[in-house]
Amino acid sequence: MRYQSTRGNSPEQSFLEILLGGLAPDGGLYLPVQYPKVTPAQLDSWRGLSYADLAFEVLSLYCPDIPEGDLRALVRKTYTAAVYSNGRPEDKASDITPLHWLGEESGTRIGLLSLSNGPTLAFKDMAMQLLGNLFEYALQRAGQHLNILGATSGDTGSAAEYAMRGKAGVRVFMLSPKGKMSAFQSAQMYSLQDPNIFNLAVDGVFDDCQDIVKAVSNDLAYKAKHQIGTVNSINWGRVLAQVVYYFQGYLLATQSSSEKVSFTVPSGNFGNVCAGHIARMMGLPIERLVVATNENDVLDEFFRTGIYRARKSAETLHTSSPSMDISKASNFERFVFDLLAQDGKRTAALFKQVEETGGFDLSKDPAYATMRQFGFTSGRSTHTDRLKTIRDIDGKYGVMIDTHTADGVKVAREYLQKDIPMLVLETALPIKFEETIQEALGRPADCPPAFKDIKTLPQRVESIPADVGVVKQFITQHVS
Ligand SMILES: *Cc1c(COP(=O)(O)O)cnc(C)c1O
Repeated sequence: MRYQSTRGNSPEQSFLEILLGGLAPDGGLYLPVQYPKVTPAQLDSWRGLSYADLAFEVLSLYCPDIPEGDLRALVRKTYTAAVYSNGRPEDKASDITPLHWLGEESGTRIGLLSLSNGPTLAFKDMAMQLLGNLFEYALQRAGQHLNILGATSGDTGSAAEYAMRGKAGVRVFMLSPKGKMSAFQSAQMYSLQDPNIFNLAVDGVFDDCQDIVKAVSNDLAYKAKHQIGTVNSINWGRVLAQVVYYFQGYLLATQSSSEKVSFTVPSGNFGNVCAGHIARMMGLPIERLVVATNENDVLDEFFRTGIYRARKSAETLHTSSPSMDISKASNFERFVFDLLAQDGKRTAALFKQVEETGGFDLSKDPAYATMRQFGFTSGRSTHTDRLKTIRDIDGKYGVMIDTHTADGVKVAREYLQKDIPMLVLETALPIKFEETIQEALGRPADCPPAFKDIKTLPQRVESIPADVGVVKQFITQHVS
C-alpha cells in the first residue's frame, strides 16, 4: 500500500513515511493509491470481534510496513474498556463506541454511535489515542524525537495532550487563547502534570495562536533543528483510525452484510465524515452519508449547490457548537480528489483557486452530478435548532446530548428512510458544553464520575504574550 498526494505532484510514500508529517511537498493531502475492498463475507466474519481486533483488521489493510504483531499490540493497548469508560452507565464500555438506540421515527430506528467516552469526552480521542501509541512506536524505531506544536480552541488540544502524555520521545507545546475556553476545557488541559506536556496560555484569541504556529512552522531551519511537528486534522493516521468506528457502528446495527445503514456526521473540517467516505469506498454498505453543519455552513452550501466558498475570518461565526466553527474544511480536498476521479492536476488547480479567489464552482461540472453516487447529502442547524433538539431528545427519550450531536440529530431527522437505520455520530459529551445544556434544559449537564473534581485540581500553565519570538524561546529552553 502506497500513498499519493491529492495534487498529483509528490512521490508516493509508505504509511510510516507519512505518519509523522503533514501536507505532501506539493501542498496536497495524502490518500492511498487505491482503497482496499472488503467483501460482504469478510465483513460478516468480523462480527463479534473486539473493537481492537476490528481495528487491526481495518488498519492492517493500510500499513503493511508495520509488522502484524506490533500493530496488534498497538491497537490492543489503545482500545481498552478502561480508557473508554466515561459513557452512559447503561452502555457497554467494551464496545468502545457503543451504539445507543434512541427509538423509532418515520419507520426506522435512530441511534447514537457514542464516540466520546474516551479521556477527553470528545470523538477526537478515537484517533488521537492511537496516534500517541503509533508516534511513540515510529519514533522509537527511527531513533527520533518529536516536538508537537499546536493551537487549540478546545477539543483538539486536550485530545492531543491526553494521547501524548508520558510518551517516550514526544513533547507537546499547546497554545490556547487565555481565558477563552470553557472552564471545563481549560481544567482538562491545564490540570495535566506530565513533564512532557506544556500548556501556553496566549494573551490573544485562537487566530493569534494559530498564526504563531504557522510562523514557527514556516521557519524551516528552526523547524528542522528542533524536530517540530503537528497533529492537525489532515494527518492521515487520524483519518484512518476513524474509519474503524464506521465498521463498528455498522456491525452493531445490523445482523448481516446484506443490510444498509446511514450515518449523520456533525462536521467542521470534514475529517470525521471523510473517514465515513473511505469506509463506504471500501465497500461498507452505507446508504447515506449526511453532513451536518452549524451556522458555518461552507460544506452544506457545497453539497446543495456545487459551489465551494471558503469564508473569511470575519464571516466565521462563534456558535454554541464551537468545534464546528470553521471557515474552510481542511480535509475536504480528499473528497474532491475522489469526486474528480483522482485527477491530481484538476484538484491542484481548484485548491489553488481557493487560495487565490476563495473558492470554486463545480455546479455545472459533470463530476458534481455524480456526487449522489458517493452517498453524500447535507443540512444545517442553528442555535435555536440545537436548543430545541437537546430539549426534545431529553424529553422524548431521556437522553442528554451535546450541542454538536444535536446539530447531527436535527439534520438526521430530515433524511430518515424507512427500514434503513440512521446512526448519528455522538461527537462530545454534554458536560463539555455545559453552559448551553443549562440554557436548553434549565439544569446542569450530567458529569461522568471521573470528572467531578476536575475544576479544583492544581493547574500547570504558562502565560505568555502573543509573540512568535517568546514561543520559540520557550521551546528552545525546554527541548534540551
Ligand atoms: C472536532 C469536532 C467536530 C468536527 O469534526 P471534523 O472532523 O472537523 O469534521 C465535531 N464535534 C466535536 C465535538 C468536535 O470536537
